Amino acid sequence: MAPLSAFGNPVEEDHDLFTVNMWPNGMSGACMVTLDDISSGTSPSDMWLVDSILQEYGAHATFFVIPAHGGESNAIADNDDVTDALRQLVDKGHEVALHGYSHTPPKELRGLNKEEQASLITAGKEMLINSIGPVYGFRAPSFWDNTSTQVVLAEEGFEYNAGASLFNVYPYQPKDLFDPFFGDVIDIIEVPCFPIDYLAHVTSVSYSEDLYKLEARFEGCHSKGTPFVLFTHLPALMEVDSHTRRHEGLLLLDSFLGYAEEQNVWMPSMIEFVRWWEFITQAKIDYHMSSNNLVISVISEDVIEGLTFNLALPPDINDVSVYVNNELVFTQQDIDSDARIIL
Ligand SMILES: [Zn+2]
Repeated sequence: MAPLSAFGNPVEEDHDLFTVNMWPNGMSGACMVTLDDISSGTSPSDMWLVDSILQEYGAHATFFVIPAHGGESNAIADNDDVTDALRQLVDKGHEVALHGYSHTPPKELRGLNKEEQASLITAGKEMLINSIGPVYGFRAPSFWDNTSTQVVLAEEGFEYNAGASLFNVYPYQPKDLFDPFFGDVIDIIEVPCFPIDYLAHVTSVSYSEDLYKLEARFEGCHSKGTPFVLFTHLPALMEVDSHTRRHEGLLLLDSFLGYAEEQNVWMPSMIEFVRWWEFITQAKIDYHMSSNNLVISVISEDVIEGLTFNLALPPDINDVSVYVNNELVFTQQDIDSDARIIL
C-alpha cells in the first residue's frame, strides 16, 4: 500500500469485464459497533440486552474491556459473572479487545514512556487472555495514544489499534503515512473512528435528531466506501429517559442498525473487518481470456470466504472460471453477463 492510498477506496479493481466487490458476500458497505469501558462493574444483563439487538441484524460488536478499572481491587478476572458473559459473547461472534489497564487517570497512557506503556498493556492483555480468551485489538483510554503505543502494540502482536481521528480516514498503516521516520517498525493497522460518531445520552427529545445525524454520517461514509465505526459506552446506552422511562439509546441503536441492514451493510467485529481488509488489499487479482472463457486468478497468502466478483461481460464471453492460488474453485458455462460470483 503506497503512502496516501489510505485515503479513499483501495480496491478500485476495475478489470473491464468484472469488478471486485470491496466487501465480502456482495455487501455494499461496512459498519462496526464498538462499546467502551466494559469492566468488572459492568452488568452482564446490560450486555445481553445489547446482544439481543445486535443478533437481530447479524451484527458482531467489539467490547473494549478495562482489565482493572480504577485499580487492582476491581480486576475483571475476579468477577466470574462478567468474564463468563464475555466468553459467551465471543462464542456468539462478538469480540473482546483491550482498553488500557485501569483507565485511571482517564488518559492513562499520557506522559508514560514506551516501557511504562508496555508494562500496562502486557499486564492488561495477559489478564484478558487468562480470564476471557484471545485479544487482537486495542483502544487507548480516552483515545490518548502516541507512536510508542503503536510500537508496543506491534511488538505485543496486536493486529489493530482502534484510535480516533479528526480526519475521516480509511484504515491505514502508520508506517505508510509516516515512513521514512518509522519505516517498518510499526506493523499495526489503525482503524480510526470519528469523534462525532459517538452514540450516547439519547433522550426522547433528542431522539429524532440523533438518529438523523447518525444516518447522515453513516451515509457519508457508505457512499465513499469508508467503513463506519460507531462507538458508545454501555452505561450511556442504558440511560433511562425521564419522560418515557425507556432506554432511548438502545432504541436508537436498534433503529440505526435496521437502517444499515436495509442497505445490505456488513456488520463485523473489528478483527473480522481488519482480517478482511488485509486480505482484500493484498490479494493479487488478475484475469486472462481463453477463447470465450474468462479466467480470473486470485493469489493470496490468507484467503477469507466471501470474495465477490460482479460480472459485466460482453455477449461473446459465456464461460467463467476462477482460480485461487492456482486451484480451480469456480467454473460455469453460459453464465449471465451480469452474474455475481461469491467464493
Ligand atoms: Zn474509555
